[in-house]
Amino acid sequence: MKAFKIAVLAGDGIGPEVMAEARRVLSVVEKKFALRLDFEEARVGGIAIDVDGRALPAETLRVCEEADAILFGSVGGPKWEGLPPNEQPERAALLPLRKHFGLFANLRPALCFPKLTHASPVKESIVAGGFDVLCVRELTGGLYFGQPKSIREEGGELVAVDTMVYRQGEIERIAHVAFKAAQGRRKLVTSIDKANVLENGVLWRRTVTEIAKQYPDVKLQHLYVDNAAMQLIRNPKGFDVVLAENLFGDILSDEMAMIAGSLGMLPSASLGLKETSTGRFGLFEPSGGTAPDIAGKGIANPIAQILSAAMMLRYALGEAAAADAIEAAVVRVIDQGLRTGDIWSEGCRRVGTCEMGEAVAAAI
Ligand code: NAD
Repeated sequence: MKAFKIAVLAGDGIGPEVMAEARRVLSVVEKKFALRLDFEEARVGGIAIDVDGRALPAETLRVCEEADAILFGSVGGPKWEGLPPNEQPERAALLPLRKHFGLFANLRPALCFPKLTHASPVKESIVAGGFDVLCVRELTGGLYFGQPKSIREEGGELVAVDTMVYRQGEIERIAHVAFKAAQGRRKLVTSIDKANVLENGVLWRRTVTEIAKQYPDVKLQHLYVDNAAMQLIRNPKGFDVVLAENLFGDILSDEMAMIAGSLGMLPSASLGLKETSTGRFGLFEPSGGTAPDIAGKGIANPIAQILSAAMMLRYALGEAAAADAIEAAVVRVIDQGLRTGDIWSEGCRRVGTCEMGEAVAAAI
């Protein structure tokens, strides 16, 4: 029996509520797929500030270091909004975790379920039948981190400088993540750049084209970022894996989440430098936040957290069949007409967080 250690960082707001349902689903998967998942819980975010005096206590980091993957809820809320920016839960917990584990690859599936296309703001004729696009965003390089970076005075006025830097090796490793992901999907990578204007774009396109030769079963196409922003809305179904550098990926993955419709349905993964025999160490979390407006009411949608657990099985633990089973179970439950409030529509059955988790667990 394969055994894995999972660090469970539920965090604040709806975090613990939706995490409980992901755990419920994982315990069914353990039995069905002969796995052993050893969960160790640790405090993070606002709750850790309250109890331990800091958003990412040393003990939590130790638990993460000893684990094969981190299953993360979400952090923050009104209670901690008055703290100085550097001490706020999101910044003081997630950024150090990203840095500590070199989480360089951000994977955000934009899933629009066939039965939930009404939640998309895009015309029904475009999203009919749903779509499934995976955005692979480089997370630790480019314009957000390049030096120099400053606002200075020059000739009597202020001048702002940001620097865009990409090393070939950084592009190569994110390209490998995208091509490998595409191999388990519909085998199409669309690489995004601005090679007509930026030197970074020229190196990006050249490097991705080279790496593609190692994946002859995957088709590669290139799009300029401005064109990609349009094509993703015009025909999201024409995409499989979208590969982008940090800034472009930040914008396009949010665009795709919006087109997909419901935030409570969208998982994400941040993969790190550490490779294991089964995949890559990573942090797996819902795309949304702590939803303070509905926290504690038992009505949050647990599906994003459940699908984050599926991503953990697929990308960190190498358990693709178990991940497939969870994803198929979610589709089945949606097809049965069960809906939490955020995705509810006329004629469907409204359920709470627990009932949705139980239904997915039962459908596996
Ligand atoms: P949010 O994602 O928490 O909420 C936005 C809206 O979506 C709300 O109406 C909320 O009720 C709804 N929503 C989100 N997830 C849902 C779910 N699973 N089921 C049903 N409805 C859901 O974003 P926000 O309001 O901007 O932020 C709230 C707090 O969360 C802030 O403190 C913010 O800093 C924090 N936050 C944390 C993370 C993280 O931990 N990675 C990410 C984003 C925001």
